[in-house]
Amino acid sequence: MNMELSRRSFMKGASAGLAGTTLGSLGFGEIEAAHAASIRPFKLARTKEARSSCPYCAVCCGMLVFSAENKAGKLEVTHIEGDADNPVNRGTLCPKGAGALDYIRAKTRVKNPMYRKPGSNRFEQVTWDFAMERIAKLMKEDRDANFIDKNKDGVTVNRWPTMAFLSGSSCTNETGWITWKVARGLGMLQIENQARI
Ligand code: SF4
Repeated sequence: MNMELSRRSFMKGASAGLAGTTLGSLGFGEIEAAHAASIRPFKLARTKEARSSCPYCAVCCGMLVFSAENKAGKLEVTHIEGDADNPVNRGTLCPKGAGALDYIRAKTRVKNPMYRKPGSNRFEQVTWDFAMERIAKLMKEDRDANFIDKNKDGVTVNRWPTMAFLSGSSCTNETGWITWKVARGLGMLQIENQARI
């Protein structure tokens, strides 16, 4: 029997179940039990489900990501499909999103921050702490060197003209609001979003 519960096998099973139930009421209960035992569990029944969004483009389609334990006891993504409850895509995914499992499993996928030292010709893996501290340090140095608090007329402007911020299109409204506040609060003028690129 095919592992997948196709529409056809579901309809077949449903009508057989109805017949079995009717037969059960007539004293043929074992038929119903035999039929129930013959139906294999839905393939996602043992998986954990998580909501996510497609990483590819600005549409930001909703995804359901299913994971199951592998032989080593670690959760591994086994299936991805469109989230029918998401108002953006209502369960659909384009070919790129539908193939996201390959992206997740790709051997070349970068999972850690990579750093190329000044003068080096290769990237090396670093920790998130290292990456965040390095970014913060460089931002502070640049801001200290280039911040403009007043223009030539003495008017307070608080500008940081040498830094720009690019936000991701998958961000929620709330994340976008905080991003805007932080970037503007630091004095950045150039703020852009991936959705417009
Ligand atoms: S599924 Fe396709 S349209 Fe939707 S966000 Fe991903 S790449 Fe964009």
